[in-house]
Formats: sequence, structure tokens, C-alpha cells
Amino acid sequence: MLYLDVPFLDKEEAKILGAEWDQSRRKWYVQERDEYHNFSRWIPNLNQSEMAIVLSGGFFIAVGQQECAYCGKTADVISFGLDNYYEFYNKENDYDTGYPEPVYWDDAIHFADSIGPLPIEAFKFISNINRNFKYSRLGFFDYKSNHCNQCGKHQNINGINSPFIIDSVQKASNLKLYHAMPKEDLVVSCSYLWGSHDYLVNDYAKIIELDPEWRL
Ligand SMILES: [Zn+2]
Repeated sequence: MLYLDVPFLDKEEAKILGAEWDQSRRKWYVQERDEYHNFSRWIPNLNQSEMAIVLSGGFFIAVGQQECAYCGKTADVISFGLDNYYEFYNKENDYDTGYPEPVYWDDAIHFADSIGPLPIEAFKFISNINRNFKYSRLGFFDYKSNHCNQCGKHQNINGINSPFIIDSVQKASNLKLYHAMPKEDLVVSCSYLWGSHDYLVNDYAKIIELDPEWRL
């Protein structure tokens, strides 16, 4: 299920295309994923950016460790993973055809160095699973960056030692991923890394399913 931003003037058009009305949230939504592509113009926030990502497979909170570049000790770090998602493109990218067709991806779990907004429950969950995590909020996105739990310095998780850049079975095996599956598909802005060995994560990382109430 995907909630839409349908302006009042467009409501008849959305209805004809099959959108349904949620009276309690006073919002239009589309139930079936294979119809999402008919509603590109009402994807939330797409008008303000080049691309919006619809997370149809929920998302993963990934936990890893890396050596802190400042104090040399082991720092616990997190990233966010996505595996089933649509990329919707803004019409500005293609004047001839209007909104280009969205692209669906489900090849592997990829890690995002920025993603947002995510539900606040994600961050509550993170602080519950590991009190050592330290973050700071980075403005526009609901994304929080990692800091060393020993010396407090910022941790770059895109460096060569990043636990989220997968180049071996061993690195994939060292990760623990919590899979959150919200009741509705989330629309996020996202910048993710794509590695040719990302498929190892599905096979070797420890993946733990969360229920919709964020329980283990
Ligand atoms: Zn440190």
C-alpha cells in the first residue's frame, strides 16, 4: 500500500485510475504494487527531487563494526539496507514522455549512506539494541551519522574498511541485519551504494525479522 499526495483538483482523476480514499488519514492511496506506476505524478515529494524511492520490501537496519580511524578501537556502526524498491523519476528528466516509467529493483540488499525520512521507531529500535551507538542528526534527512563509541569521533562508513562495502563472504557474515516491514510502503530520498558482491549479504549475513510493532 502506498499513500499519495493528490491535490484536491486531481481527485477525480486519481479515483478513475483506481486510487482509494482513506477517510481517517484523509489521503488517497493505491493498494496494489503493480499499479503504482499509474500514480507517478502523486508520489510524495517527487516534485521536489529528481528521484523518489518507494521501499516495497521494507528496509534493513544493518549493524557492523569497524576500526576507528582516530583511536584504533572497534566502533559499532549502522547503515540502512534496501532490497525491493521502485525508483520513480521526476518528469523534469524527460519532457517528451512525462513521467518516465519507474524501475523496480530486487537483485540484492544494498546499503544506503543516506536515507530518509524513516519512521522514528527505527531510531528508537536502534538505541534499544545497542546503547553504544552514537549519532547526530544531519539536517534535511532523518539520517543520523555514526560516531565512535570510544572516542566520539565521526565514523566514515564509506571508507575502504567499511563493514558495508562487501567484498568477501567473511564481511557479509559479520553483519547483522534487522528487517523492518512497515504496514505501508515508505517513500524516501536515498543514496545507496551498489557493490557487485552485495548478493553475499542475503546468503551470509544474520537477518532477523521484526514484526510490524518493531518486536523481535
Ligand atoms: Zn574512536
